[in-house]
Amino acid sequence: MNKNELVDKLLDYFVNEDKRLLKYERPTDYSEKRSFLRGIINMRPPLGIDEKILKMEDRLLQLELEDKFVTDVKDISCVEDSIALWLGDITTLKIGAIVNAANEYLLGCFIPNHSCIDNAIHTCAGIRLRLYCNEIMQGKTEKTGKAEITSAFNLPSDYVIHTVGPIVYGKLTDKQKKELAECYISCLNLAKKNDIRTIAFPSISTGVFHFPKDEASKIAINTVRDYLKKEPKAFDKIVFNVFTKEDMNYYEDILKN
Ligand code: ADP
Repeated sequence: MNKNELVDKLLDYFVNEDKRLLKYERPTDYSEKRSFLRGIINMRPPLGIDEKILKMEDRLLQLELEDKFVTDVKDISCVEDSIALWLGDITTLKIGAIVNAANEYLLGCFIPNHSCIDNAIHTCAGIRLRLYCNEIMQGKTEKTGKAEITSAFNLPSDYVIHTVGPIVYGKLTDKQKKELAECYISCLNLAKKNDIRTIAFPSISTGVFHFPKDEASKIAINTVRDYLKKEPKAFDKIVFNVFTKEDMNYYEDILKN
C-alpha cells in the first residue's frame, strides 16, 4: 500500500471507532487528510487497538521517515568534550536517546496537531508509544524533574527518555531552577543505567511551560558540564538540540564561556 492508501484505511478505521468523527467532512487532498489523521491520533486515548492497524501506521511512519533527511549523531561535531550543539527537528535524529519534554501524564500531547515537542515525538513514534507509556503510568502522574525511558518505535533514535519540566507561572523560583536541573540529571542517570552513549536534549520547559530561555540554557549547560566532570566517560556525545536560531544564540553564548 502507498501512503495515500494507508491514510485512507487508517481514517476508515478511526472514524468507525469513534462515530463522533463522522460529523467532520473528510478532506480529499493528501496533506489535509494526513493532518486530519494526525489530529485524530493525537486525541485518541490509549485504548486497545487491532495489531493490523498498528502495523499499517508503522508502515506509513516508516515511509514518511524515508522521505526525511535523518541526521546521524556521528556527523555532529562536539564543541567541547562530549558536548555538541545541533539545530533541527529532534524526530529526525539517529542517536541513542532523544529526550522528550513531556507533561506529568506522560501520555503525549492530546491537542490535535499541536506544535509542541511532545506532540511531534508521539506523532512520529506512533500510537504504540502512547500505549506503552500508559502501561508504565497506569493512570499515575510523574513528578517534575523525574524521567522514564521507552523504546522510540518509529523514530530513528533507539530510545525516548520522557522528563517532566517545571511550569513557570509568573516569577521564576529557585525551586523551578532546581527542578529543571533535576530533569537533566534524571535523564543522564537513566541513559547511563541503560548503557546509552549518545543523547539529545531539547530546551526543556522553554516552550508552553514558559521557563525563560536564557536561564534555562544556562541551567542545561551547567548541569551537563557538572555531570561530565563527575562522569567523564559515561557518554560519547551529549547533544543540545535547539529548534530556533534564537535558542542557538543563547546556547552558543554560554558554550563560549
Ligand atoms: P515545554 O512544555 O517543555 O515547554 P515545548 O514543546 O513547548 O515543551 O518546548 C520545548 C522546546 O522544544 C522549545 O524550545 C521548542 O522550540 C522545542 N521544540 C519544539 N518542537 C521541537 C522539535 N520537533 N525538535 C526539537 N525541539 C523542538
